[in-house]
Formats: sequence, C-alpha cells, structure tokens
Amino acid sequence: MLISLHDINKNGTTRIVEFAVSASQLVFNNEEIRTLEPIKVSGTVDVAEGVAAVKLTAATRLAETCSRCLEEFERDLVVEIDEAIAEGGEDEEGIVPVQEGGFIDLRDVVLNSIYISMPIKVLCKEDCKGLCQSCGTNLNIQECDCASVDEDPRLSALKDIFKEV
Ligand SMILES: [Zn+2]
Ligand SMILES: [Zn+2]
Repeated sequence: MLISLHDINKNGTTRIVEFAVSASQLVFNNEEIRTLEPIKVSGTVDVAEGVAAVKLTAATRLAETCSRCLEEFERDLVVEIDEAIAEGGEDEEGIVPVQEGGFIDLRDVVLNSIYISMPIKVLCKEDCKGLCQSCGTNLNIQECDCASVDEDPRLSALKDIFKEV
C-alpha cells in the first residue's frame, strides 16, 4: 500500500489503513520466516508537512524452530509500529527509504519492522531443556544417562584439593 508524502493539505490528513500482506517470501538472516497466515495490518497514517506518522499493528502466526531443541512450534507474532518517516530522512535502521516521488510503501515498513522484531534465538518455551550434547536426546521429552556419567573435570580437581586439606 503506497502512501504519498505530497498528497496532503496544510492541516494534514489521517488515513485509516487496513490491509493484509501475504508473505510467502520473507527472508531474515538468510532464514525464511514462515508465516502460517497473511499478515494483518491495521492502524493510521498521518501525513503532514512531508512527514508520515505511521502507527500500525501487524499480526500473524509463525512456524518456528526452537534453537535449543530444534522442535518446530507455532507462535503468534504481533508487532507495533510507530514511526515518523520523512522524505530525505531514514528511519532508525535506515532501511525504509522513501521512494521516488515521495511514496512510502507500507508493506516495506511492515516487513522491516517484522524483521527487526525477530529474536536471534527463539525458544519453544523459556525453560526448554534442549538436546543432550552427547547423545542428542530431547531432554524435554525424556532424560538420558549422559549427565550422570559426565563429570566436569574442573569439579573433580576441586574435590581432590579438598581431599588433601
Ligand atoms: Zn525447545
Ligand atoms: Zn545424553
């Protein structure tokens, strides 16, 4: 959805916007962001004196892979966007340029905000136990015997010290 920075009167115009982005090709950090449904966007755009105040809420549902246990899971994504975009200016990350003729593509604004909101590591749950580094067992599902066998060599050294005292 294109918004023109010049399409204004002196008092400014407020536009209520509502649209959906069917995001089949979102790529972030060389990894695809898998949306399970179109990104629903709604909010307002105020254009006054060449500046667009963009206030949008974007919502969708994502399929993700836990970075600890590698299990797939789904989560809701809601991103609040509150940006002032001016011609000749940049947003905080400098990645939403105003197009030639003074147009802003709200789709780009939404997608950029989603990229920025993506955590580098996603966990299926905060206390995900992950995989055993020795045998690969998903420790959320079952325990393995590795932990009791492996002993931190530094701990053993400490024990020896205590023995001597
Ligand atoms: Zn996990
Ligand atoms: Zn194990």
